[in-house]
Amino acid sequence: MNRIVCKFGGSSVADAVQFRKIKYIISGNPERKIVVVSAPGKRNQQETKLTDLFYTAHDLAKSNLDFSQPWKLIKERFIEITEGLSIRSTVREELEEMEASMKKQNDKLSADFVASRGEYLCAKITSEFLGAKFIDAFPIIQFDSQYRVTQQSLDNLKATLSDPELLYVVPGFYGSDLQGNLKTFTRGGSDITGAILANACDCLLYENWTDVSGLLMADPRIVKDAHPISYVSYREIRELAYSGANVLHDESIAPCRAKDIAIKIKNTNSPSDPGTTIGPTPASVSRLITGIAGRKDFSMIYIEKSMMNKEKGFGRKVLAILEDLDVPYELSPCGIDSMNVVVDSKHLHKVEAEVLAEIDRKMQPNKIKIFNNLALIATVGHGMVSQIGTAAKLFAALAKENVNLRVIDQGSSEINIIIGVNEADYEKAITAIYREFVG
Ligand code: ASP
Repeated sequence: MNRIVCKFGGSSVADAVQFRKIKYIISGNPERKIVVVSAPGKRNQQETKLTDLFYTAHDLAKSNLDFSQPWKLIKERFIEITEGLSIRSTVREELEEMEASMKKQNDKLSADFVASRGEYLCAKITSEFLGAKFIDAFPIIQFDSQYRVTQQSLDNLKATLSDPELLYVVPGFYGSDLQGNLKTFTRGGSDITGAILANACDCLLYENWTDVSGLLMADPRIVKDAHPISYVSYREIRELAYSGANVLHDESIAPCRAKDIAIKIKNTNSPSDPGTTIGPTPASVSRLITGIAGRKDFSMIYIEKSMMNKEKGFGRKVLAILEDLDVPYELSPCGIDSMNVVVDSKHLHKVEAEVLAEIDRKMQPNKIKIFNNLALIATVGHGMVSQIGTAAKLFAALAKENVNLRVIDQGSSEINIIIGVNEADYEKAITAIYREFVG
């Protein structure tokens, strides 16, 4: 039987009402057999996600400080959920045991272990409420020394979750290292757990349930009426996510892509909304562009030197200087006698003086300058490939709005045109591109 992995994010497990929605969703399709949960999230803007409360409690305990405040909030929330669902649950006892352990000077639990309890306890509650089998991720998902999930983990998962008739619940966000210590993924990592499970169990689909009905073609804070995206390819989502569209953890694409498993972003609060499907590149696309995303806080290092094009290794040496000073680069559009390197400002600012001094010393340029407050905007879509006039349309739309282009970059894949503009023009530029291509 084809199975679907359903991952529910923090907002979908924030309280008892949300758990009931999960039950309704699971019962709506018998193929939904594998459930992954995050830790309970915020119910409102003032609240703190349980994972953050666990980290705070751990930090305080580590410094032998009183951690009763965050701990009280953690306990209250879990107890509220279990009482709201009228389930027995051992959550209270488990939290009390852990609290006692954290208070003992010689029994310090690791930060990863403490933080992972949000997912662990939430999965226990979910399995009890759904009448499903709880499977702990700790002994099954294993990281190698490079923090990659091992092939053995995939085999373990396949063997452990082998009964096609059973409903399983697995906590997201963590596994263990080769030494047997509990290790978490990076923040937001429950998305990755879901993707790994979909891959290991050769699932039909990976449903990622959240509090929005999928992706929009542009940030709705900028373009109020931005259209939803019904389908986006794995490649497009990578470009959009890199450029700021924030939907799911970027490491959750590869495990699904490896087996052509589609990912569906769905809304727990509005399950009949179609959502956004992420899958292989479609044979044909109806829209010229799929989406527009962008980010602020970039800087551009401009280097000018006459006869630069004849100087072998010039680019490599400049990039090596940045590498040595731990500054990753984003783009590097070049002229004949000039080179621009766009970098994330937060990396550059720490070592700006050293970067300038080293480039000056090693490359002996005629001119070197840093421009700050740059925003990058990516216009993404398979529909643009081989479409003559796409770039012209984009640039004309920006010119009409008086937006000055600082950087232009189009990869040979043609699915992405990146422009750099002054941060002050960021919103105006996104709106102009959207109106030109979408209306
Ligand atoms: N609870 C973890 C976090 O807050 C993982 C997740 O929610 O995906 O990052």
